[in-house]
Amino acid sequence: MQRRNSERELASRWETEAVAAAKAQAAERVRVDAGAAGEPERRAREEQAMDPAPAQPRATEEGDARVLPRPLPTLTVSKPKPAPARGLWTHGKPRSKGRNCKRSSGRRSDEYRSQRPVTVDSSKARTSLDALKISIRQLKWKEFPFGRRLPCDIYWHGVSFHDSDIFSGQVNKFPGMTEMVRKITLSRAVRIMQNLFPEEYNFYPRSWILPDEFQLFVAQVRMVKDGDPSWKPTFIVKPDGGCQGDGIYLIKDPSDIRLAGTLQSRPAVVQEYICKPLLIDKLKFDIRLYVLLKSLDPLEIYIAKDGLSRFCTEPYQEPSSKNLHHIFMHLTNYSLNIHSGNFVHSDSTSTGSKRTFSSILCRLSSKGVDIKKVWSDIISLVIKTVIALTPELKVFYQSDIPAGRPGPTCFQILGFDILLMKNLKPVLLEVNANPSMRIEHEQELSPGVFENVPSLVDEEVKVAVIRDTLRLMDPLKKKRESQNCKLSSSSLSMAAVDILYIDITRRWNSMTLDQRESGMCLQAFIEAFFYLAQRKFKMLPLHEQVASLIDLCEYHLSLLDEKRLVCGRSGTLGGRPPDIGSPQEATPAAPLAESNLPPCTDKHSHPRHALS
Ligand code: ADP
Repeated sequence: MQRRNSERELASRWETEAVAAAKAQAAERVRVDAGAAGEPERRAREEQAMDPAPAQPRATEEGDARVLPRPLPTLTVSKPKPAPARGLWTHGKPRSKGRNCKRSSGRRSDEYRSQRPVTVDSSKARTSLDALKISIRQLKWKEFPFGRRLPCDIYWHGVSFHDSDIFSGQVNKFPGMTEMVRKITLSRAVRIMQNLFPEEYNFYPRSWILPDEFQLFVAQVRMVKDGDPSWKPTFIVKPDGGCQGDGIYLIKDPSDIRLAGTLQSRPAVVQEYICKPLLIDKLKFDIRLYVLLKSLDPLEIYIAKDGLSRFCTEPYQEPSSKNLHHIFMHLTNYSLNIHSGNFVHSDSTSTGSKRTFSSILCRLSSKGVDIKKVWSDIISLVIKTVIALTPELKVFYQSDIPAGRPGPTCFQILGFDILLMKNLKPVLLEVNANPSMRIEHEQELSPGVFENVPSLVDEEVKVAVIRDTLRLMDPLKKKRESQNCKLSSSSLSMAAVDILYIDITRRWNSMTLDQRESGMCLQAFIEAFFYLAQRKFKMLPLHEQVASLIDLCEYHLSLLDEKRLVCGRSGTLGGRPPDIGSPQEATPAAPLAESNLPPCTDKHSHPRHALS
């Protein structure tokens, strides 16, 4: 298990190295895909013009929302590999002297690419379509509701990776994920880890696979009972591949398992039942958390800050032979409890039978619960579960998208179902490969007459999850960022720096007598330097602004020199001597295009995040 860093550190690291690594991979694949690569921009624009306007939401799926951006907290479990320098990084490379007014056609097309909206194929989004549409609209991206002849940047699949043939871009499903999170497969994968690291994996109830392990189950229960006659366990039987509480029942003794018929045709998992869950308003509830698996290698996991809490609709009592069959007391499934007369639809996100998890945390916090500890236990549960699934997922991935062959990169939103025990320890119930992203629910208007109505709590949580997932997967983000001048804390684009250079140079050159002089004269350089210093260090007096910028430039120049010396020693750059540089060569945009800089320690220097 890797050391956990602060969220900010991790977020900034992912924004740089990991995204770069993923894009370099994607670039490599697109390069192989002759059909997709090198498509002229003009054709892309024509294609966009020809494409029909986004379809109206389907009649059964409606809803609109304005949800404020809410960033996801970030986690990583492995240090991302540094990105190899390849074609995509044109804008990340140091610019030569900051005065190249002439631009190559390559740069122009790169600029076009970074300014055009990200394209999303939503034709296979199914029930997540409404939330996806809202997210795309909020991001001002371009939706292709009927698919597109040219490749899209992102393909949003409602069900599985194999929904269609894709050779480039990114798809929101990993091959093999559905199989990997089925109840039996998940139990097997976690059990392997439990055998290796029993302490680390004690968040998953002891489970047996039926019918194969029925005898083992009977023997182990008998053994524990013999050792402790006061032990009165309860077990929960869950059919493999089932969902929404389908076919689930509770038992007190292995002999109660309904072996006849069904198990042979439908294998199941039998699991220790958690008898002492945390209750709120005397009701049992569980947590649906959304987890983004952004990449398998390097492993990148994001956990959404908010999720849903789904409540039972009958006050909880510890299981007894009298109440074992009370599903509204023991099963938290929304799909079951919605049929209870006690189900409470609420316009508020902190009341009713479905609430935001953040509202639960608030409530716990007000009662003095250490919610940081709860979160950190949940985070570690999520990471360890993904780690248990990763080896087999990689096998699926490599067989479906062999390295060197054209194919998309994958990401996926997973739904983690978690129960909090009375002692606040989180327990993993299951992982869903296709968590529901519906943002409306059925309401019975009059007896037997149902209508889909927007669900505020679903919309608030799910739209934010999809939108932030898209933002994290934005394939053009790096290009846009690399086009901003690193010298400015506000958004000063490289194009703006070019214009600044041209304007100031022209003005000063028109004033100088010697018209033969080319480039920027010293006075022009000073004016530009002062201007940039003011933009970057807004709050300081002018002389400190300038001093700070000089420090910053010197610092980065010295880094470049060090780098060159190291490279020179290893022979990769042919041992060129450090470049001392004229004033023009110290034009700030050049050395500061490097992004992986350690924090400055000088009193005038500013911490790293001010640069990115
Ligand atoms: P499904 O995929 O059919 O929803 P789950 O594994 O999520 O199956 O179980 C359904 C519900 O049963 C859960 O939401 C939870 O309320 C309850 N449940 C499942 N496993 C346990 C367990 N080990 N202990 C206590 N309650 C459980």
